[in-house]
Amino acid sequence: MRSCRWEKRVEQWFDGRRISGVEEHVAACGACRKSLETLQLMRQGAERSRPGVSDAQFGAFYAGIRERAETPAPGHGRAWAFASLGLAALIAAGSTFAILSGGPRAATAETVVESYSTDLQDATVEYYRAEDGTATLQVHYTGGDMW
Ligand SMILES: [Zn+2]
Repeated sequence: MRSCRWEKRVEQWFDGRRISGVEEHVAACGACRKSLETLQLMRQGAERSRPGVSDAQFGAFYAGIRERAETPAPGHGRAWAFASLGLAALIAAGSTFAILSGGPRAATAETVVESYSTDLQDATVEYYRAEDGTATLQVHYTGGDMW
């Protein structure tokens, strides 16, 4: 909250703007004199706390900033990124292979014919296995008409 209606003008005058009557007002107004002193203290404090880089030091100062800005951050981020990408690709390839190959093989029961014979007269037994693994046993009757 402003303590005097001139305070804004005093601040502008302090910042370098030439406003007629301010000097006379500050000399007569205690509130504006106090405000001006506070502004001067703040400016002095800001100037003291500013990191000083002289003209002679500026070259090295700027080179340091450029070096830090252009150097990538240290760490293993890039290597881990590639390792993660490789692992993800491997998992994707494995999943694709599993999907395209129909997944895990279904369990199959296999018929094995170890021996064959028949008690039928005039009949022969023939066994063969088809290409798909199907076992077939054929009984051929060769003795005349079927009853
Ligand atoms: Zn005032």
